[in-house]
Amino acid sequence: MAEENHRAELTFDAADEYRPGPPPAPEIPSWKDGSIRIGIHTSIAGDIAGALDMAHGLGANALQIFSSSPRMWTRGPSRISAADAARFVARRRELALGPLVIHGNYLINLASPSPVLRTLSVQGFHQEIVRALALGADYLVVHPGSALGSGTDTAVSAIAQGLKQAARGLHLGEMQILLENTAGQGSSVGSKFQELKAILDACSDISLGVCIDTAHLFAAGWDIRSEEGLNAALMDIDRSVGLERVRVVHVNDSRTALGSRVDRHEHIGRGKIGIKAFGRILNHSLLAGRAFILETPIEKPGDDKRNVAALWRLTGRVVRAIGPGMKPRPKKRISATLKTGGRIKKRSRGK
Ligand SMILES: [Zn+2]
Ligand SMILES: [Zn+2]
Repeated sequence: MAEENHRAELTFDAADEYRPGPPPAPEIPSWKDGSIRIGIHTSIAGDIAGALDMAHGLGANALQIFSSSPRMWTRGPSRISAADAARFVARRRELALGPLVIHGNYLINLASPSPVLRTLSVQGFHQEIVRALALGADYLVVHPGSALGSGTDTAVSAIAQGLKQAARGLHLGEMQILLENTAGQGSSVGSKFQELKAILDACSDISLGVCIDTAHLFAAGWDIRSEEGLNAALMDIDRSVGLERVRVVHVNDSRTALGSRVDRHEHIGRGKIGIKAFGRILNHSLLAGRAFILETPIEKPGDDKRNVAALWRLTGRVVRAIGPGMKPRPKKRISATLKTGGRIKKRSRGK
């Protein structure tokens, strides 16, 4: 040791010169470990932290929630208490869930030509950002809005303006706002990625990304049932908004037909998109590293659990869902890897 130090003193190496180091890197959240992230939208009814245990119990390692009632204008700021937020953040860390995606209120329409609704929308979205930051969310998803006769170009600039007004005075930090593609129902903006791109371009000072919804893609006319169709959609997304801006994929099968422009979600594999297409989507190299979040219907008890399990199976992993009151067994949650040589084997019963 002493010998080495002595030798180092004799020769000057520019690399040895003292330079003030960079500030310590921010702590990397445990969910950014490169593992596959499968999540589901869970309810905050009763207790907001209960949504975390629910997602964990369903076998998910990521989740999406509403941070308040999704179809009501909340009166006043509707803040989350500091105690509730702290409990939520602590429980989320314990369960290593991430990313945490918050879906904005459905009533928000930043493109509304009505001054009253537009003001409510900007204020409502401002509060969405405040609550998302309080909960330590990674992403806040918002539907761009509906033009309602005002024309797409006017709507696009109204949305961009509205996003800026809503974010004014807030420090987003690591959190990103994601614009979701739409089915193109009515006059909704965002069924074409060029429209999302125009909004992104007009808001370069806000940290904005994109969320793609498979059911919306399909209803908007992208035939993602085939490999070629999926590649064509991904290429179009890449040419417009850029795939690197896509952070979350809403994984929903579609009850409605290709190009129907009607948004109706269906259980994975039971809709018009089909199970094979979801296998390609979950394993597509261009979508690696994204969080896959289910927004599938719950019609029968266990539907949510079955949809989560279906996605894990498509990735080649089987994850045990944990029943209420049962202790999680982290080591066994991801058990056998069934994927062999790029093909997914069907799991036979009894094995
Ligand atoms: Zn969605
Ligand atoms: Zn939808």
